[in-house]
Amino acid sequence: MKELILEMEDYAQEKNVPIIEKKSIAFIMKYIKDNNVKNILEIGSAIGYSAILMASANKEAFVTTIERDEERYMECLKNVKKCGLDKRINVVLQDALDVNLREEIKYDLIFIDAAKGQYTKFFEKYKYFLKDTGAIITDNLKFHGYVGKKDEIESKNLKSLVEKIENYIDFLKDNEEFDTKFYDIGDGLSVSTWKNEK
Ligand code: SAH
Ligand code: MG
Repeated sequence: MKELILEMEDYAQEKNVPIIEKKSIAFIMKYIKDNNVKNILEIGSAIGYSAILMASANKEAFVTTIERDEERYMECLKNVKKCGLDKRINVVLQDALDVNLREEIKYDLIFIDAAKGQYTKFFEKYKYFLKDTGAIITDNLKFHGYVGKKDEIESKNLKSLVEKIENYIDFLKDNEEFDTKFYDIGDGLSVSTWKNEK
């Protein structure tokens, strides 16, 4: 298992796959343990790095993870099999905005880590699948330090992406249904939970 994790880190570095930072995944694994999280939904599997580590944080945890890129999906499947977690990690090859989840399943944790420009859409779509006691964790809210420094960015595409992340942060701050805590860990994380009234 440790060896596979190291292999995945090397692969990600070589192929430029943006896997989660160590401090961030450590934070999420602690959250899973502390809250006895069992049902996890991940948006954006890449090669399975975070899915495997989340599943390994609790022996009773099940992870459904969604990836739209076929090559990454295949790599993810391979890694999940290699570490023997194929009974507890279900990998779905589809655009997360097109997926139809079974409505009766609700999650303790939803981890949003796919296309940064679509964060609000993912949140609005998947909040209906979050348990009353569950949390939505989002990664990359600092986007490599660009968030909050829009004026220094020259590339139009990058600027627009950073703008979307800033809008998502405002969406979370102003949200009437959810309370959100922001953490300056790794590339920036947030934890959103239903407001008490629910
Ligand atoms: N969670 C992974 C990293 C994910 S990187 C880890 O930390 O190990 C983000 C991934 O989301 C990419 O592989 C990308 O192909 C995928 N992605 C982006 N938009 C998506 C969408 N709309 N639906 C499904 N997957 C998406
Ligand atoms: Mg990430």
